[in-house]
Amino acid sequence: MNQLDPMEFDDDSWLHDQELESLGDEHSDEHWMRQALKLAQQAAEQDEVPVGAIIVHENKIIASAFNQREQLADPTAHAEMIAITQAASHLNSWRLLECSLFVTLEPCPMCAGAILQSRIPRIVYGALDPKAGAVVSLYQLLNDPRLNHRCETLSGVLANECGRILTEFFDRKRKLGKK
Ligand SMILES: [Zn+2]
Repeated sequence: MNQLDPMEFDDDSWLHDQELESLGDEHSDEHWMRQALKLAQQAAEQDEVPVGAIIVHENKIIASAFNQREQLADPTAHAEMIAITQAASHLNSWRLLECSLFVTLEPCPMCAGAILQSRIPRIVYGALDPKAGAVVSLYQLLNDPRLNHRCETLSGVLANECGRILTEFFDRKRKLGKK
């Protein structure tokens, strides 16, 4: 999956603090990331890997989603993918110009591809995903000069909280698995 197989995760590698870059408005980035975290929490309550995403346009949330891979039995049902579809439908356009995407975990290659396709100019994410991340960890798809779109990225917003919810989810899974 991208979003993490419990058996692959025996460390807390996404919990590393990252330095905030001096991009954007830190306060409002945190505010929006809290909304994405609430969605991740909902995912956990529904036994989905807890990743949440929102898209903000003109200071309003136009899309909010969480990972629903299990419920929808759909490998593409990552939080970002669902949010991008919602936002495009809301704006009645495949181009998500003047939008910002907030997601609790670093996007995977599929989601980074969708971010490029949708022309979102800015994404903010929380925890790093060293096993599947396609923004900095494994690939740097959003800042590749060979592609026709690049995206401003800001990492590490509420990274600890975004990582903790994943760690707790997989800890719980592992404990249940041992019973
Ligand atoms: Zn993804």
